Amino acid sequence: MASPSIVVVGSINLDVVVRCAALPRPGQTVTGDNLHEVGGGKGANQAVAAARLGARATLIGRVGGDAAGRRLRDGLVAEGVALPSELITPEVSSGTAIIAVEHSGENHILLIPGANACLTPADVERHAEHIRSAQVLLLQLEVPVATVIAAARLARAVGVRVLLDPAPAPAHLDPALSHVDLLSPNRSEAEALVGRPLPTIADITDAARELVARGAGAVVITLGADGALLCAEGLAHHLPAFPIHAVDTTAAGDAFKAGLAMRWAEGATLVESVRFALAAGALAASRPGAQPSLPRRDAVEALLTTYAGASITAATARGTP
Ligand code: ADP
Repeated sequence: MASPSIVVVGSINLDVVVRCAALPRPGQTVTGDNLHEVGGGKGANQAVAAARLGARATLIGRVGGDAAGRRLRDGLVAEGVALPSELITPEVSSGTAIIAVEHSGENHILLIPGANACLTPADVERHAEHIRSAQVLLLQLEVPVATVIAAARLARAVGVRVLLDPAPAPAHLDPALSHVDLLSPNRSEAEALVGRPLPTIADITDAARELVARGAGAVVITLGADGALLCAEGLAHHLPAFPIHAVDTTAAGDAFKAGLAMRWAEGATLVESVRFALAAGALAASRPGAQPSLPRRDAVEALLTTYAGASITAATARGTP
């Protein structure tokens, strides 16, 4: 079978990471240990994750006309992600996250959207052919919402499936985005979407049903070490996480969303797709870093084979009450 085509419309960031003994208080200067610059942004992370899992991945996202923008684009191309050539905004900086991490793990993040804020509905229109010929359009909310809506509308008009990762959580999800084919928040984003805490699996199941009632074709809520809750076709399934040793959960959600998009694009059922996504997410959580931790297809298949049967039999299916 030919590799499926997944198009991501989303953010591209440079993550500038500094480790330090204690985070600076306002007005204070502290000395950092070292500085790392790595590619980030949910759009870029999910596009790289999809490419590593074997998809033909295209990313519609903007960088600035700076050296960081060139490096970020080169890095994505080296990962096998296709990039439309003219999406560079010369007069702004590339999206940048300045991340200070204390030895305890506590962090401060300053996010500069930069060129990500310049991605317009017209950019999406100009690259409509990529979206029209994809199996799945994968979206997040780190670029302007009008652009995300334009991409979703374009895909749905021609029957291309839309998977939305509603991150960062909006105070209010635009109705145009409530009607995507598959909505996949993490637990705190789901809490923001329904406006209440979700402490138990029963609460999470109710929230997933509520999001389906608001228009989503299906909902998958990720639950970290507790796996994921899928609500589709009137049934809710709680699928447990793979029992790995978590080292660093950065980008675990991005690996999960790309895995979900990948198997779904290949025509698998949603339960199978969530299992594949859980394996991809677990592998990302078991390795340090963001993009460096994103797994390849063979590693995901190996983990699935090791636990063949176990997660599916442990899944609980609950019908509509
Ligand atoms: P986010 O990183 O977006 O906050 P989650 O914390 O829900 O999202 O994690 C996303 C997915 O990553 C989970 O559904 C699971 O598949 C995997 N994952 C995260 N943490 C762990 C863990 N400790 N053990 C196994 N899998 C994990």
